[in-house]
Parts: sequence; C-alpha cells; structure tokens
Amino acid sequence: MLVTHGCFMTSLDMHIHTMSGKCRGLLCAFALVLLLATRSFAAVVVIDAGHGGSDRGTRWNGLSEKNLTLDVAKRVETILKRNGVTTVMTRRTDRAVALESRAAIANRYRNSLFVSIHFNSTRLTAIKGIETYYRSDRGRKVAYTIQQSLISKVSANNRGIKRGNYAVLKHTRGTAVLVECGFISNKAEASRCGSAAHRQKLAEAIARGILRSR
Ligand SMILES: [Zn+2]
Repeated sequence: MLVTHGCFMTSLDMHIHTMSGKCRGLLCAFALVLLLATRSFAAVVVIDAGHGGSDRGTRWNGLSEKNLTLDVAKRVETILKRNGVTTVMTRRTDRAVALESRAAIANRYRNSLFVSIHFNSTRLTAIKGIETYYRSDRGRKVAYTIQQSLISKVSANNRGIKRGNYAVLKHTRGTAVLVECGFISNKAEASRCGSAAHRQKLAEAIARGILRSR
C-alpha cells in the first residue's frame, strides 16, 4: 500500500510542476486528503476472540470453542503487530464479554476493522469447512479477501462468504467480519483445529487477508 502511495505522489509531483500555484495547492490538498483517507482505513484492527468465561461457545470432540478462538486471536495479534498494525483485543483472557461491549470497543475507533473469530458446529457431523460473514459492502470485500487467503493457505472445504446478521456485525459501525474457522463437530476438522500448528496456519491466513484488504 505504501509503495503505491509513493508512486502516486511521484507521478503527481511531475504534473504539479506544469500547473499554476492555485491549482497546485488544490491538487496537493486533494492528494493529502486522499492519502490520509486511504491510510486511515482500518488504522486499528480489533481482534475479537469469540465467547469466553461462562460462555464456552460450542463444545465437541474434547474442544471448547472459547479456547480455540482466544488462541487464534492472539496469534493473529502477534502477526499483525509484527507487520506494524495497531491492534486491540476484545479479550486476552478467559472471560465473558457481552456482544454489545465487543462492538462498543470497535466503535471507539474511527475506521476500525473488526474481525471476530469463531469455530463452528452442527449435528450433521459430516459437514466441515470454513466460511466468513459480513454485513456491509466494505465488509463483503474484506470477508472475501480473508476467505480466499484461508482457502489458499489451509486445505479446507470452501463454504464461501455469507451475509450474516450476527450481533457483533450489526452493532459495529465500522467494517466488520466474522470468520468461522472450521467445524469442530467434524472429527477430522476437530483433530486439526486441536493442533497448535494448524491454528498458526489459520492465524497466518487471517492476518494475511487483513493485511491485503487494508
Ligand atoms: Zn462462536
């Protein structure tokens, strides 16, 4: 992104030399606004580990969703920080956080990107795969980028992106997505979701998707 901005400014500089002072000033102001607007998108990434505390999320095959989501969230945080991204966690420990409070944390920031991390389950235990939810148009684009990143990095059934009415998506004013990282009701998927190496892969894919969508 920064490289693109650099090129843009360089070609702009060349044109500026041929313009009048007033026009040059206006163009510079416009370029600055454009640059700030682009840079301020997703200035803060709010990472939301689903469930926590008394809310264990779904439980299958010896796994509790709340522990998996926190582990992946922390891994995503580490990778994003390494890439210079400002991150905020809705929880860093095993504690319950109300859905409205999670959205409220994201709403403290202008142009934040809210990424909620979950694992899925169903009684139809043959079902497996990864899917990402969104609500807004901007959310749709981010969901698509994250979903593509996940599918290319983690060999999984691609359940695609879907419009969802989840409370955290509904109450978040900025861009928000919710990633369902796999069905722990499926024996094979639960087995790999239980491994730290797989969760690291999930985190890397999610982080890469976030970085690409900014
Ligand atoms: Zn969940």
